[in-house]
Order: sequence, then C-alpha cells, then structure tokens
Amino acid sequence: GAFLGAIEALNPRLNAFITVTPELALEHAAAADAALARGEQGNLTGIPLAIKDLFCTAGVRTTAGSRILEHFVPPYESTVSANLLRDGAVFLGKANLDEFAMGSSNMTSAFGAVTNPWTRQGDNAPLVPGGSSGGSAAAVAARLALGATATDTGGSIRQPASFCGIAGMKPTYGRCSRWGIVAFASSLDQAGPVARTVEDCAILLTSMAGHDPKDSTSADRPVPDFAAACRRGVKGLRIGVPREYRSEGMPPEIEALWQQGLGWLREQGAEIVDVSLPHTKYGLATYYIVAPAEASSNLARYDGVRFTSREDGADLTELYEKTRAAGFGAEVKRRIMIGTYVLSAGYYDAYYLRAQKVRALILKDFTDVFRGVDALVTPTAPSAAFAQGERMDDPIKMYLNDVFTVPANMSGIPGLSVPAGLDAQGLPLGLQVLGRPFDEETVFAVGAALE
Ligand code: GLN
Repeated sequence: GAFLGAIEALNPRLNAFITVTPELALEHAAAADAALARGEQGNLTGIPLAIKDLFCTAGVRTTAGSRILEHFVPPYESTVSANLLRDGAVFLGKANLDEFAMGSSNMTSAFGAVTNPWTRQGDNAPLVPGGSSGGSAAAVAARLALGATATDTGGSIRQPASFCGIAGMKPTYGRCSRWGIVAFASSLDQAGPVARTVEDCAILLTSMAGHDPKDSTSADRPVPDFAAACRRGVKGLRIGVPREYRSEGMPPEIEALWQQGLGWLREQGAEIVDVSLPHTKYGLATYYIVAPAEASSNLARYDGVRFTSREDGADLTELYEKTRAAGFGAEVKRRIMIGTYVLSAGYYDAYYLRAQKVRALILKDFTDVFRGVDALVTPTAPSAAFAQGERMDDPIKMYLNDVFTVPANMSGIPGLSVPAGLDAQGLPLGLQVLGRPFDEETVFAVGAALE
C-alpha cells in the first residue's frame, strides 16, 4: 500500500513505471499474508518489486519500451519473474527502459524519458538515470520499490545502478534463464537484480537464478546462498586493478573514489595487485558489432503479423515496411542497419567474424588474470549521470559510456556495481567488481566489503 502510494505521488515526475499494476500488487500481497498466516516464509514473501518491462508477465502488457509492442499482453510469465513469484514477491508494475534495452540514458523509450531522482547540488536540471534499466534503477533509488529486475547486455544493470546510487548485479551468462525475456543480443543478454544494497541484490539473485530447460544456455548448476557470501569478508583475497581502465581520460574524482575503495579492501585484509587486460580496449568496438548483429536478427520477428501493432499495406512487404517504420524508434533502426550491414555477404568476415575472434581474446585476458587474482575492481562508468538530452545527437559519445561494462558481457563473467560515494556535484558514482565465471559469491563478498 505504501509503495503504491509513493508510486502514485512520484511516478508522474520520474516516469519510472510504464505500467503500474495495483490490483496485481494487492493480490500478491494478500497471497503473501495468507502464506505468512500459515507459517510459510519464502525468500521474498511480501517484498514489493518493479519488473523491467522486458520480462514477459502473464496477462500484463509487456512493451520492451517500444511502440511496436504497445499492446502486447503475453500469455506466459518469464522464468525469472515466475521464480520471484514462487518465492513470495509482490509485483508493483513494469519499469521503463530504453527501447528494446538499447541505450545508456533511458532517453530512447517510446514511453518517455525517466528522470533520475538525484540532481546536481544547486541545480534542478533533470538528469538521466542511465540505461537501459533506467526505470528499475530510478524506482529503487526513489524508494518506489525495494528491488527490481533488470537486464544487462552491455552494462544496463551496472551503469544505471551507478548513476542512481544503488547496487546492481549482472551474474554470469547462463546463471538466470533468458526464457520469456524480450531478446536483444542473445549471446550477451543476462538478467539480474538492482536494489539498495549489495546484500539485497544477493537475496534477489538467489530467487531469480537457476537452471531452466526452456533456455538451452541456462547453466545446470546449484544456486548458492548468495546472501551468506556477503558476510564472508575479503581477508586473504587477491584483488586485481586493471591498468587499462585508467587510460580513458577519467575524471580525477572517479580515480579518488577508486583508490579509496581499494584502501578499504586493503584495510580489511585483501591484497591489491596491478594487472593487465590488453584486449579490453577493443571491447567497445566489438560489442557495437556483435550486439547490433544479434539484434537485427532477433528483431526480425516484429513484422506486423505476430506480436505487434500493425500498419496496413497494399501487400505483405508494404505491411512489414510500414509497421516497422512506425513501430521502431531511431536508435533501434540504427542498430538494425548496423547489424544487417556487418552480417551481410562481403562484410561478414571483416566485421562480425573478426569481432567474434577479438571476443575470444577478451575472454582469454580474463581467464589469464583470474589465475592470479580472485576479483577485479574498476569504476563502473567513466562519468556520473548526465543531463537529459545530452549526447542524443552523438551516438558514439553515448556508446563510450559503456567502456568499462561491456567486457564482462563479451566474456560472460559476473559484474556488480556498488555505490562508492558522491562526486563534487553531489552525484553518486559506482565501483565495479568483476569475478570468475560462476563465482558470484566472491564478487558479492568484495562488493559488501566496499559498501
Ligand atoms: N548501452 C548499451 C547499449 O546500448 C547497453 C545496453 C544493455 O545492456 N541492454 O547497447
């Protein structure tokens, strides 16, 4: 009730939710009360959550932030959201996002921009919450939900968490089922939680994760108690600091918070060592080939015949063209064009195939480095939240914001963003913890020690 009231009061300004589901929330809350009355306490009984509007929710409109899915009501529930319901969660509504999760600002949503609840000191100019999970992060930061689901294809959990001063975890590729999540780039997409603290993320991930026969890339591994891992401490751990993350013309405040975080880890008994990830500098370029390539293939299904709002045409080709011209926004069209280009005969070898080879080298860098260290600590993003509208006319500048986050997607390793402090203008900045594949426990332990 209190959360629904807060949403009613603040969502008109923040636009963090595309759809609010008060009836469903009350239904879930009543079920939680009944379970508690029977003495049944699940991992999440009664915990109010926002669900990124990329997760299909049975009987609840799922838009992916796109005009083309404006009226799509899935008859099925994604595995991740079903897992949350199984453990007693209460769904408040569907969180806003960049269209098809393509963006770092939440400015590309067909349902309007999301406003970051934080502002610069002495300046009320609206700032972006980051993206693509901007609605999820803003909802949690503004206390409209205790946690939220999010997805991360190239930083979309970690960067908005950093911009909104909360925690966000992208687990290892395969840890959470992708079934029922609208696909962007299938070899990179991974679901995870955003929440106020590292431990809250750990509690949520314990419910979200798990093997699912309906997703052939989902890992058949037991799900540990991630919350317990948050209390392990960092004594005796070796923490790597990749020197390549320093060369991006980074603001001195980010460097200072980074050093402060490393100092805390050292005080708690960790050993800090310099390491090198030589292929990291190619991460962004290869990401912006692989992700659009897969997107152009995944988005071919929105043709006006299935799922979608339809525009009339004299024949089928015209129907496709008109539906896609009206239904997709500018960023989505740009990605489809890039993706189609790099996959086309004659260019495939030069772009897509080469990007896949470089991707293998990025993974090899991490494999080598993790022989000597247990985790890596870096900044999450090269800047704090920027103003709404800024960078919209300069896609390259927008893409550069993902420079620290995409290597984890290219290699599949887990990455956590932890709120690290405020910059001189009073805006939050995050530190990123990276770990070995399927060793989220160490990542959580380091993250909790940084908090
Ligand atoms: N900003 C990145 C992009 O636009 C990340 C998106 C994501 O992780 N979903 O592709």
